[in-house]
Amino acid sequence: MLNQLEQRICNRVLSLEDEFIAVLSDLISINTADPPGENYDECANFLATHLEALADNVAIVQVAPESLPHHPSTGKPLSRPNVIAEIAGLKDGLALHFNGHYDVVPAVGNWSSDPYTPVVKEGKLYGRGSTDMKAAIVAMMMAVKALKLENVNLAGTISFSFVPDEENDGPAGSDFLVAQNKVRADYCIVGEPSGATNFFNGHKGCVWLEVTTRGKPAHASSPWQGTNAFDKMIKLIQEINTKIKPNLLHQEDVEPDTSTISETGTIMLGGKVTTGDSANIVPPRCTMTIDRRLAPGESVQNILDEFSSILASLQKSDPEFDFDTKVQSQYEVCVTPAESPLVSTLSESLQSITGQTPGMSLMAAGCDMRFFHAAGIPTVIYGPGDLGMAHQADEYVEVRQVITAAQVYALTAMRLLGVRDDI
Ligand SMILES: [Zn+2]
Repeated sequence: MLNQLEQRICNRVLSLEDEFIAVLSDLISINTADPPGENYDECANFLATHLEALADNVAIVQVAPESLPHHPSTGKPLSRPNVIAEIAGLKDGLALHFNGHYDVVPAVGNWSSDPYTPVVKEGKLYGRGSTDMKAAIVAMMMAVKALKLENVNLAGTISFSFVPDEENDGPAGSDFLVAQNKVRADYCIVGEPSGATNFFNGHKGCVWLEVTTRGKPAHASSPWQGTNAFDKMIKLIQEINTKIKPNLLHQEDVEPDTSTISETGTIMLGGKVTTGDSANIVPPRCTMTIDRRLAPGESVQNILDEFSSILASLQKSDPEFDFDTKVQSQYEVCVTPAESPLVSTLSESLQSITGQTPGMSLMAAGCDMRFFHAAGIPTVIYGPGDLGMAHQADEYVEVRQVITAAQVYALTAMRLLGVRDDI
């Protein structure tokens, strides 16, 4: 149920629909695809300008110049600005942080129209980054705008961070802000697309491993004179397929009930494979990536130990099995418990607005939640758009979902932080 003030806020959000579409279209039209990740200053300035109308302290911060990445063709440093802002409440009030990434993945695939010239058709706004996740950034700003237009004074503090470097797992976005103590909050909402009627109270963990097997080159006509590193990799794949894969999530588990996605880990082999150079030379080297997603109950260390024991047993049974491994990325499962006031308040706000009990699960992919979680800040993932639409050609977000998300953001802030009636 909504009280009178909450109903007014929801109506106010609804009245801003044209502005939502205009601001989101302008934001999408700034091409922030990474790689290479250009136009970030333009995007950050655009966001800072909008935030200045809403917040007290708006700043743009970034990693030290020597840590900036460089353009792959020109060699020039690439700016990686983070936009942060705060609307201060009472000193002893709680603080709620809204986080979103403005970098997007490149617009590959067959698009029906230009991915950076957004169009609205039948209630859907098309453009690269619409779902993942510029719509959430706009919804967060519009939620606060509606509170301001209705003269709502919150007892606590709202802050924002709009960041780069999420899509490429880079170090210059949320990771940097948290490490630099730029985010001080009691709760955080990351706006990755969960669908406006559901939310994620965490995400799965991940281990990206690169395995290299080594052999000895020889002429292909007498392969016994060499050691085929590719064959050795096949041995590893067979071991993984028989010892690890059967215990993990399969299509048939997911098809009848998608809620199982959160509960079991996954593995994907061969995202990247490189091996020999020529059809007639025994390959002396083969490299393959392994993507292992972790479910609750699994830890990075257990997974690394499991791979180590398989590799060690292969080496024991085959003295020519020579390998090394490199961990490219690793993070643990993040979960904010259902008892957290953030989870219950978001869940109740969602229910008040949609009239339905929201679905709560873990996001299958990882996101910036892990940095806030690691800093001890209870965090949930909630944003407009369906996760399946992220990174797709003809990416779109339903305008209706953006409005619902903004209403939920506003209501959650009011209920979690409290509203002051003393001024
Ligand atoms: Zn995203």
